[in-house]
Amino acid sequence: MPKRVKAYQAFVEDLEKRIQESGEVGQEELSKLIDTTQEYLQAASDLSQDEWQLIANYVRRDLSDWKTDYQRAYDESPGMALLKESIWYWLAKLSDQSQVEWHELIGDLQHQGVYQSGELIGLGVIECAECGDKTALWHPTIISSCEHCQGKRFYRHPISEQQA
Ligand SMILES: [Zn+2]
Repeated sequence: MPKRVKAYQAFVEDLEKRIQESGEVGQEELSKLIDTTQEYLQAASDLSQDEWQLIANYVRRDLSDWKTDYQRAYDESPGMALLKESIWYWLAKLSDQSQVEWHELIGDLQHQGVYQSGELIGLGVIECAECGDKTALWHPTIISSCEHCQGKRFYRHPISEQQA
């Protein structure tokens, strides 16, 4: 497993613990918890501070984009049942409770709905900007070039749009 994917998973697991210990979490608290997790992990790791900053940015972006999915009814979609054991399920429950202002989470991070190959995405459907080919990503994955046209730019769609 690539180092960054491993780091991403460690990040989300640590963040989950902090959120559960905190109870109700609003946007500001969530953003602070992400900072705390980053500081904690980079203190005891062979990854650089810049690497952890990058991972933290991926997590913020995933949380922000996740908002499209958490509003959907999981139980009515067969594909979503797969997520019940995953980190995304508690994130959905969390966001229901806390009315998080997700767009605030990513602040000035460059994003604008476009993903590049080489970036990491936690969960979602990516669509090649060149040929429209769609791929569902159910686990944290580093995006590779489009296997059809070698395109390097992608749009993201909610995983719930994936046809079962
Ligand atoms: Zn393509």
